[in-house]
Amino acid sequence: MRYLFCLLLACLCNTTLAADQLPVRFLLTFDDGPDTGTTGSTPLIVKQLADNPVTPGIKAIFFVQTAHPIRGGSEAGKAQMRASCASGHRLAVHSGLAAGHVPHTHLSADELEMSLISGQQDIAAQCGEAAKLVRPPDWEYSPATQAVYRKLGLGMLLTDVNARDGKIYGWHMSLRRRSHMNAELTQAKTAIEAQKLSGVDGVIPVVVTFHDTNDYTAAHMTEYLQILVEEAGKVGLPLASPPFYTDGKAAEQAAIQRSKQVVYSRQSWP
Ligand SMILES: [Zn+2]
Repeated sequence: MRYLFCLLLACLCNTTLAADQLPVRFLLTFDDGPDTGTTGSTPLIVKQLADNPVTPGIKAIFFVQTAHPIRGGSEAGKAQMRASCASGHRLAVHSGLAAGHVPHTHLSADELEMSLISGQQDIAAQCGEAAKLVRPPDWEYSPATQAVYRKLGLGMLLTDVNARDGKIYGWHMSLRRRSHMNAELTQAKTAIEAQKLSGVDGVIPVVVTFHDTNDYTAAHMTEYLQILVEEAGKVGLPLASPPFYTDGKAAEQAAIQRSKQVVYSRQSWP
């Protein structure tokens, strides 16, 4: 009898939480690009974000390596940064160093500051506006790097859902991506029910991270969009309409709001 009473109470509480819960809107982010090599992964992703059966016209935030010779440091890379901005996506800093993917914690405060200013200038040169966000390579940050981000007016954005498609981790071709997304979205649901993720403009922005340097991700972007929506349904995560951001500035504003608290459904990095 006591067990039944507890079960009933749990059901009632869950119903109340679900009724209060804001719907989720996926905020897509891509790290490490631009990729304009033989596979041209970034343009392939941009094309699918624009034209797909789930939400046409999705806008994302690309955390770019602005000076690496095969990324934003090349003429083709610069052209892709311009093209991404012209398509309504927002660019943000991942690395402003020619050496590329160096953890910010490995740099002195001065080196980090100079590299980020350089990254902001590189983005402004192609997009006409300074970047407002930063994502530290390998998710490595510290109170010292955060002080530099704050000084430059850059919000640090981490992630709620990680596709784990960075080649560095050996997940180049993941056959388990559906079950992995399900597990990540279950974590997001738990965090939302515990009221850990704040709402912005009537939705809860759930930050999702991919790597636009991964040609498997690029070849399967549309499928990933479908997987996100389908698995959200399976775990009982209510989605907003549309379920993805279709306005780049709104996505960036939501990211800035989320960056003000270092609270994400993902508790460990990557
Ligand atoms: Zn990275």
